[in-house]
Amino acid sequence: MSKLDNIPVRHQPTEAAGRKRTNPLAHVFDELVKFCQSRSMFMLHYCTGCGAIELPPAMTSRFDMERLGIQPMVTPRQADILLITGYVSIKTLKRIILTYEQMQSPKYVIGICSCTVNGGMYWQSYATAKVLKDYLPVDVYIAGCMPRPEAVISGMRELMSDIKSGRAQNWKRYYENYDHYLGNQQKLFGEDWQTPTDIIAEARHYGLMTDRTLGEHTALLEKHQRPLEALEMRLSAREKQKT
Ligand code: SF4
Repeated sequence: MSKLDNIPVRHQPTEAAGRKRTNPLAHVFDELVKFCQSRSMFMLHYCTGCGAIELPPAMTSRFDMERLGIQPMVTPRQADILLITGYVSIKTLKRIILTYEQMQSPKYVIGICSCTVNGGMYWQSYATAKVLKDYLPVDVYIAGCMPRPEAVISGMRELMSDIKSGRAQNWKRYYENYDHYLGNQQKLFGEDWQTPTDIIAEARHYGLMTDRTLGEHTALLEKHQRPLEALEMRLSAREKQKT
């Protein structure tokens, strides 16, 4: 028996989501949950570029983002919103994707500054990722170089309204079109790019597997499955220590 036999293999199906709901009051409860979600959000601000300078006024006494129910959060595990504030270098994009994948669903992405929309003034740079939505599903863009705090607050309000009405479903697109997003990431980082997060298993868990979740790019994940190799090395090192 191989020592890998006891290790939970990635991409195993977990309990399927999408159970049928029979309670007639379920939709009333759903509306209430959506309203509460839109009024209580924790935001991880990943300050990548100069647009971040408009966040302090937006978050403090003059514009006071907290009155909308939005507070800063320091860890992706407990954040609802990932805020990207400007140009994104290729190296930074890897951290952004890892951060996004660690966030619990439902989760939302806001791109501040023209640099996140189309590269902005760095549109010709070899070192930046030009269009953020090629790599992650973006819910709201706030364009400008740099956008004023009023625009930031307005973008937040738009996201709140989308969450309340149930339109903010972009997080599902990441699971449903994972092969597309992964393909764009691999073009930038190389075909052996992967994160420790198991998006395919999560897609199964949420009942969001489509014929676009798996494809030629996700096949490469199996080929370059480094975490298992690393785990195998750790286990063999531990076994050597015992003997
Ligand atoms: S849009 Fe302007 S302010 Fe914003 S990150 Fe780009 S260069 Fe900086």
